[in-house]
Amino acid sequence: MTQLEAYITEHEGRFLEDLNGWLRIPSISTLPEHAGDVRRAAEYAADQLKAIGFANVGLIQTQGHPLVYGEWLKAAGKPTLLIYGHYDVQPVDPVELWESPPFEPTVRNGNLYCRGACDDKGQTMLVFKALESLMTVNGELPVNVKVLIEGEEEAGGESIEHYVKTYPERLKCDAAFICDTGMAAKDIPSIDIGLRGIIYTEVEVRGARRDLHSGVYGGMAPNPLHALALIISRLKDADGHINVPGLYDKLLPPLPAEKTFWQEDPLHIADMLREEMGVAQFSGEPEYPPLERITARPTLEVHGIIGGFVGEGAKTVIPAVAKAKISLRLPPNLKSAEVFTLFERAVQEVAPPDVTVKVHDLHGGEGLFVSPDSPPMVAATEALKEVYGKTPLFTRSGGSIPIAALFHEVLGMPVVLMGFGLPDDNLHAPNEKYSLDQFYKGIRVVASFLLKMG
Ligand SMILES: [Zn+2]
Repeated sequence: MTQLEAYITEHEGRFLEDLNGWLRIPSISTLPEHAGDVRRAAEYAADQLKAIGFANVGLIQTQGHPLVYGEWLKAAGKPTLLIYGHYDVQPVDPVELWESPPFEPTVRNGNLYCRGACDDKGQTMLVFKALESLMTVNGELPVNVKVLIEGEEEAGGESIEHYVKTYPERLKCDAAFICDTGMAAKDIPSIDIGLRGIIYTEVEVRGARRDLHSGVYGGMAPNPLHALALIISRLKDADGHINVPGLYDKLLPPLPAEKTFWQEDPLHIADMLREEMGVAQFSGEPEYPPLERITARPTLEVHGIIGGFVGEGAKTVIPAVAKAKISLRLPPNLKSAEVFTLFERAVQEVAPPDVTVKVHDLHGGEGLFVSPDSPPMVAATEALKEVYGKTPLFTRSGGSIPIAALFHEVLGMPVVLMGFGLPDDNLHAPNEKYSLDQFYKGIRVVASFLLKMG
């Protein structure tokens, strides 16, 4: 057994105690009455970094909750890794569905139950413990490390965005590591290599200057609700192909291994999702497997339609205005600003001539693709293989992780999205848990990942 392995094995119990101390602090970032707890959780993280031997450790004040920063930069000539985590948690409602108190860490069947056990205190703490183990055993770290922990991930993350954009030179690094994701299944290690971006819009359709009576004007008056229905129906065909000219032009081809995984679906993820959704048949592009559609293809979804009369009974109104909330999820390489322009043009093109249409850009965010061939990804892959005895799966998430895209965009380096959560960890829900086995394995993986990077 290596000295490192011996140290980790010997201290597993204390590592868990340190996590439990952090978990008992109810750092719910979105509830103002917990502001003091949020700060205490930040100080707890800073104390951990100080104990490891990090320099310049402190809380960075922001408009909202503080960031925690610390660095160890004594590995001359070695790469610098920026590590991200978050110390805030989601609210706990409905509290009556928790089997043990949400802020009292409790072990049942090898799982640690507590709000934040996985997301993201458990995952951040395992990184701290990997750093501690390396530092204690070797007297140094194999790479330079900057740690930045935020307290608003569950509440919009505005402060860290502002900080990263304002002080990119302080965060200069060769790679970033975010430990806030999960694995495809127990014993199937995975790394996220792709995230989708998004544009979220409101399409506003106007007809007459005011609402009209259908008995007086019907047959002649433009009806914005009909026009909106036409526009929506023309934007996507019955087979799920999106009619936004130019949208598909810049799509990057997926890796061959991804294609195989999507086609074969060895974990039967599509079946599980079908069951969970309670539908007999999936929608969308039939020529692509469902797993590819939900992670690597563009989407166009209508989220809501506003307009006209929706009360009880009847009112023969021809509304003056109708609106729809429409979003597009964007695979990496599709830039949100460019897609907004394409979408706006497409909407105008399919709009009937008797109405005026405006498209409002409500918000946008970028996707991300990290090549498995980049040096930090190779190090992460090797580390997972060493601990789990299996080559990791490269997966994609259909949603976005704004901080990952932000790091990639502003700092311009690869982002390793490697986490140890499991699909049944109940994130954001009652009875959130973290597998202790995953916690202890994660410490070993991260320690090995840093050694391989160095
Ligand atoms: Zn999280």
